[in-house]
Amino acid sequence: MNRPFNFSAGPATIPLEVLNRAGAEIADWHGTGMGVMEMSHRGASFGEILNGTLATVREVLAVPEDFEILFMQGGGLAENAIVPMNLCGVENPKVDVAVTGSWSQKSLTEAKRYADVQLAFDGKAHQFHTVAPTGDWALRPDATYVHVCSNETIHGVEFQTPPDLKALGITAPLVIDCSSHIASRPVEWDKVGLAFAGAQKNLGPAGVTMVFVRKSLLDQAMGICPSAFQYKLVAANTSMYNTPPTYGIYMVGLVFEWLKAQGGIAAIEAQNIAKTNLLYGAIDRSDFYRNEVDPAFRSRMNVPFLLADETLNERFLAEAKAANLLSLKGHKSVGGMRASIYNAMPLSGVEALVSFMQDFERRL
Ligand SMILES: *Cc1c(COP(=O)(O)O)cnc(C)c1O
Repeated sequence: MNRPFNFSAGPATIPLEVLNRAGAEIADWHGTGMGVMEMSHRGASFGEILNGTLATVREVLAVPEDFEILFMQGGGLAENAIVPMNLCGVENPKVDVAVTGSWSQKSLTEAKRYADVQLAFDGKAHQFHTVAPTGDWALRPDATYVHVCSNETIHGVEFQTPPDLKALGITAPLVIDCSSHIASRPVEWDKVGLAFAGAQKNLGPAGVTMVFVRKSLLDQAMGICPSAFQYKLVAANTSMYNTPPTYGIYMVGLVFEWLKAQGGIAAIEAQNIAKTNLLYGAIDRSDFYRNEVDPAFRSRMNVPFLLADETLNERFLAEAKAANLLSLKGHKSVGGMRASIYNAMPLSGVEALVSFMQDFERRL
C-alpha cells in the first residue's frame, strides 16, 4: 500500500497503528468471536470498551472529576443547538458569542433560535485574521454563557489560551467548540464550563461527538430539549440513554490509547509545535506563499495559505497530488490552500509538504 499524506480538514487522517489494530479486531474483539459493530451496547464487552475509553480520555486530557464526559451524535453543528437547549432553561437567557471565523458564526446564528444573542467580538471586521483581547469584547455581566470556537478550522485562527472570563469579573460559563484541536494541547479546564468536539478531526471517525460538561451546569435545560440530547439524562445513563455510536466510541478509545503511547498530550503538543514551526517558517520565508493570520492566533492544526499567483492553484494541487500530498485545496470561502496537520499527521508528512512547496516554487 502506498499511503499518501492526507491533509484533509475532516474526516481526516487517522494513525495507521489505530487503523491496523481496528482492522485486526474487526471480526473478533478480544476473543469474543464478535466485532465491536455487532455487539449489544448493553453487553459486558461493550461496557468494557466504553468504560476503558472514558478512563483513558479522562487520564490523557486530565479531565477533572467535576466534568461529565459524554459521547453524543450530531457533530459540532448539532451542538450549536444542543448547548443552548441545555443551558438556556433560565429566565431571559443571554448568550454572548465571539465570532472569529465560520464556525462561531454558525454557532451565533443557531443560538438566536433559543436566546437573546449578542455578538461579543466580530472578527469579520478584521477579515478573520486576528482576535481582539477578551477585555475589549462586548460581554454582558449577566450572560447565561459565552461561546467561542477555540480553533477555527476554515480560517486557521486558534486561541493559544482560552479567554479568562473570571479575570474579567464574568461568572458566566465559557462554552468552547474545540472540534478541530481537541487533544492537540493541554486543556485549561479551570477556564471551561463546557467543551464539545466532533471526532472526525482529531479523535477518530465521524459520527461521534464528545461533550465535556461541568456537573453544575446539568440542571438548566429548556423544556423543549429532546430527551436524547439532554446532557443530564445522557450523563446519568453513561452515554447510553439511547444506542450510542458504539464503533466510533471504540475508535476514539484506540486513538486515545495511541496518544498515550506517543507520550500523552505534552509529547503530541511538542510534535505539533515542531510541525507548525516548519510549515509556517517555510511560508514566511517565501514571497511565493503567504499566510495572513496574526502570528499570535495562527492555528497549529489548520494552516491556510495563498499562492502569490493564484492562477497556479490548480497546477499546485495537481502536482501535490502526484507527489502523494492530498486534500490541500482551501475551503471555498477563503480560497487558496489549506494543510490540516492534526495529531495523526506525522512530522514526515509536513516535511514532505514543505519540500514539495519549495520545489514547486523553484521550478517556476
Ligand atoms: C468540523 C467542525 C464543525 C462541524 O462538525 P459537523 O460534524 O460537520 O457538525 C463544527 N465546529 C468546528 C470548529 C469544526 O471544525
